[in-house]
Amino acid sequence: MPPANLTLVDHPLVQHKLSLMRARETSTGMFRQLMREVGLLLGYEATRGLPLGETEIETPLERARLPVLAGKKLCLVSILRAGNGLLDGMLELMPSARVGHIGLYRDPATLAAVEYYAKLPEDLPERDVILIDPMLATGNSAVAAIARLRELRARSIKFLCLVAAPEGVAHVGESFPEVLILAAALDRCLNEHGYILPGLGDAGDRLFGTK
Ligand code: URA
Repeated sequence: MPPANLTLVDHPLVQHKLSLMRARETSTGMFRQLMREVGLLLGYEATRGLPLGETEIETPLERARLPVLAGKKLCLVSILRAGNGLLDGMLELMPSARVGHIGLYRDPATLAAVEYYAKLPEDLPERDVILIDPMLATGNSAVAAIARLRELRARSIKFLCLVAAPEGVAHVGESFPEVLILAAALDRCLNEHGYILPGLGDAGDRLFGTK
């Protein structure tokens, strides 16, 4: 049983694509494409609970009252830089969503998250945020980003990732028990450098071909 704050997306397409992404020999181009595709599929799951209203629509045959999104205001927030890979797929699904960015780097010695950039919509109190980062490792970046969004009084926050480590899920759960995490996989553990095992390596480097 996954922890109570974690929902795992076990869709076969997501699982297959994630396994391809994990493979060492997968090229940068293929990794990027897969990340985008999985972003779209995870975005589909993350928006499952969006409320619907009804509107009158004229089909070629008759008028009918039909379901449409009730205009809930969403904001996608990408943790730079790897979050942008998933963001691209999610924006294909939700082209008019607002987008924020939070730049955090991991201090290599302490693994603490250090913010170097933040640009977010001003009306966060009226928006439901989906915070995006492919790897939930120690949870330090996620917790720092959630704290920032809380400070700006975001209406609600969901955290979406590709691979989660038990340590990261526990850290987010202890700091922000109300934040639900959506992930494609819950991996075994972290290694001594804070990388997820079996994981997929450094998501940013694999996405942008920087190593
Ligand atoms: N960030 C990554 O990109 N990969 C990990 O395994 C952990 C953190």
